[in-house]
Amino acid sequence: MSGEGPEEKCGSLDCREVFRRLDDYLDGTLPAEDIVAMRDHLDACSHCADEYGFGAGMVAELKAKLRTVECPDRLRAWIAEQTSRGPSGESPGP
Ligand SMILES: [Zn+2]
Repeated sequence: MSGEGPEEKCGSLDCREVFRRLDDYLDGTLPAEDIVAMRDHLDACSHCADEYGFGAGMVAELKAKLRTVECPDRLRAWIAEQTSRGPSGESPGP
């Protein structure tokens, strides 16, 4: 035990790393191996899903979109809209 404080760790990335890389992840500028690590973490970590204001299904949906979307700006605008409403709102999708 390191006693460094309450750090969550799921898989190879910890939550702070995920937050730090989220922008690049959504931009699609991360190296493929980092994208895989991000996906693995978001898949397994409900804490991050909570922080982002997505439910687990939402994250899965987002990941599916990230594979095909060519205009991350539009997606990011949608995400900003969703997160600004808070997690208690409805989520009709883009
Ligand atoms: Zn996490």
